[in-house]
Amino acid sequence: MENKMNDIIVIGSGPAGLTAAIYAVRSNLNTLVFSGGQPGGQLTITTEVEDFPGFPEGIKGPELMMKVREQAERLGAKIIDESVTKVDFSKEPFKVFSEEKEYMVKAVILASGATARWLGLDSEQRLIGRGVSACAVCDGPFFRNKKVAIVGGGDSAMKEALFLSKLVGELLIIHRSEKLDAFEANQKSVQSLPNVKFLMNTVVQEVLGKEKVEGLKLKDTKNGEIKEEAVDGLFIAIGYKPSTDFLKGQVDLDEKGFVVVHDETKTSVPGVFTAGDVSDRIYQQAITASGAGCKAALDAQNYLTEQKK
Ligand SMILES: Cc1cc2nc3c(=O)[nH]c(=O)nc-3n(C[C@H](O)[C@H](O)[C@H](O)COP(=O)(O)OP(=O)(O)OC[C@H]3O[C@@H](n4cnc5c(N)ncnc54)[C@H](O)[C@@H]3O)c2cc1C
Repeated sequence: MENKMNDIIVIGSGPAGLTAAIYAVRSNLNTLVFSGGQPGGQLTITTEVEDFPGFPEGIKGPELMMKVREQAERLGAKIIDESVTKVDFSKEPFKVFSEEKEYMVKAVILASGATARWLGLDSEQRLIGRGVSACAVCDGPFFRNKKVAIVGGGDSAMKEALFLSKLVGELLIIHRSEKLDAFEANQKSVQSLPNVKFLMNTVVQEVLGKEKVEGLKLKDTKNGEIKEEAVDGLFIAIGYKPSTDFLKGQVDLDEKGFVVVHDETKTSVPGVFTAGDVSDRIYQQAITASGAGCKAALDAQNYLTEQKK
């Protein structure tokens, strides 16, 4: 165990965690960040980011996150390139465990994000950021007047479809079974759109294209028939999984595993705060995650000041 007492431990090094770290160290708080298995977070698997303010020409996701990390480190945050395996929030000081060590801390910011669920095809993974995406708000504008497909039949797929249909020329919704899983009202809104076509009982077998998406190899789940469909983009909308397995039993999680948040950044444990996609089921954007990271650090700072009194 490290004998040193830390003021704040931030779990996660995406936009939420690193922004929280920047605000925490600038308030003179001794701050450790655990970067986890994906240093820089989800933006490191995308190419162009056009919607983060301050970059008029856009910026590559990995480059943006490298700059934010450098900023946090220059200001004094200590970043440990390990994952947190366990936490103990039962009493103060809290304990945070990595594979190697145990750390003591007065306040914690949970910013461990979420990961998009993918189909798991090699061709899909190879073309992420080159026409394959899991975020219509982020990448939809790259496909103005083009033909794209969405995989999924739930409410998140319908939400992505409503957004994309306003931008793209033609939209295919590919769903593996006979019936959509989304609420009736959401299905109806999408079904009424003139540029949307449904391909039911269909799965994607392969994403076609070398450097960028050019089409899909599709299989009819009823008769096994294979066909190819030319598309410029593919959006996977089959859900997000929050990275909260290590938090089970320590802090309230909702039925999908997201951290339950109240009063902006507070969790069920006083002194434990949360920011970004790990507790955000609605916006899931880099800028909203950064904003929440700022709020979490300010709330943690206030909490520590109150504790001192
Ligand atoms: C393909 C794709 C493209 C996108 N494009 C855009 C875009 O153009 N614009 C935009 O605004 N948003 C975009 N997004 C969404 C954006 O990336 C997320 O909303 C944002 O990254 C969320 O930030 P976060 O800090 O909450 O979490 P994340 O970015 O998910 O970061 C989570 C961090 O927690 C760490 N972690 C997880 N578990 C542990 C653990 N046990 N211990 C320690 N650390 C842990 C991870 O290693 C990671 O560093 C995109 C998302 C995807 C998937």
